[in-house]
Amino acid sequence: MNPPKVALVIPAYNETPVLPELFARLTAVFAGRTDVAWSVIMIDDGSRDATAAMIAAQCERDPRFRLLALSRNFGFQAALMAGLEHAGEFDAVVTMDADLQDPPEVIPELVTAWQNGAGVVLAVRRTRAEAGLRRVGFDLFHQLFGRLVDLKIERNTGTFGLLSRAAVAAFNRLPESHRFFPGLRTWLGFPRTEVLYDRQERAAGEPGQSFLRLLRYAFDGIFSFSRLPLRLLTICGMFIASLGFAVGLFFIVRRLMGIEIAQVGFTTLVTLVLFLGGVQLIGIGVLGEYLGRVYDEVKRRPNYIVKQRIGFE
Ligand code: UDP
Ligand code: MG
Repeated sequence: MNPPKVALVIPAYNETPVLPELFARLTAVFAGRTDVAWSVIMIDDGSRDATAAMIAAQCERDPRFRLLALSRNFGFQAALMAGLEHAGEFDAVVTMDADLQDPPEVIPELVTAWQNGAGVVLAVRRTRAEAGLRRVGFDLFHQLFGRLVDLKIERNTGTFGLLSRAAVAAFNRLPESHRFFPGLRTWLGFPRTEVLYDRQERAAGEPGQSFLRLLRYAFDGIFSFSRLPLRLLTICGMFIASLGFAVGLFFIVRRLMGIEIAQVGFTTLVTLVLFLGGVQLIGIGVLGEYLGRVYDEVKRRPNYIVKQRIGFE
């Protein structure tokens, strides 16, 4: 029997400080599981440092490594997509970060879980390395997402996990260009298993995903999986309109009954105008979020452009 072919898909953006350790630890993990035919698809997401060159050198040393270099920085989701679309030939694909926050030593457990019949294996963090504001942000997002979206996305999961060949094929068939990986992975279905692990600190270097980028990612997650914000606006509008109607009626009736109307003060007017203006702007913003996504999808632009391939036929 041929050994199962398992590929790791690892996007990397300016990761020179961690690459040597990443390569060493991956190689050690592979040595411990010789019953698997391993491959590594490293995606260079338009790094400005020597990331691409270092990966290319590693491909020279070890033919199990492959490089997919993108023409510029397209962002983590696009890089991940590029890797998955180049991994159709493998029996299973492990997705992970390059910065060693997802420890390579967990990979054999993911593979074992897949061999035991899971189509999707989720690496679930037992602990979170993030602290402070980032952690509050992550928690808040999960709370909000859980409330807004019918789909249950597993708490404490990120990119790290394994997809079977069928799951990868299904993911690659998705037509949309805004892809929120954890959500879509849940959407895919397939029998799933969880493997617990301890999330590590970044081995070296700086997180390349700025806070703004994470915020955009969170918005993508919510707006591409839920229409609830639109419905909330409708409800809010109906509520305010009814209130306006009731207040109007109240004044008319009083007038008809001949009761003197007290002048509505400046403060009241300013408050009302600002409040209603704000609500309307929020409404336009929410509409814009959806419209912008529709616009992006309609353009049908490719999500990434590959500049260089090493190790692919
Ligand atoms: N990354 C990428 N493109 C980017 C930013 C990041 O491919 O534009 C990669 C990065 O090299 C790492 C992974 O995405 O392998 C996660 O990035 P990071 O550690 O900065 O994010 P965080 O851990 O804070 O979510
Ligand atoms: Mg990281």
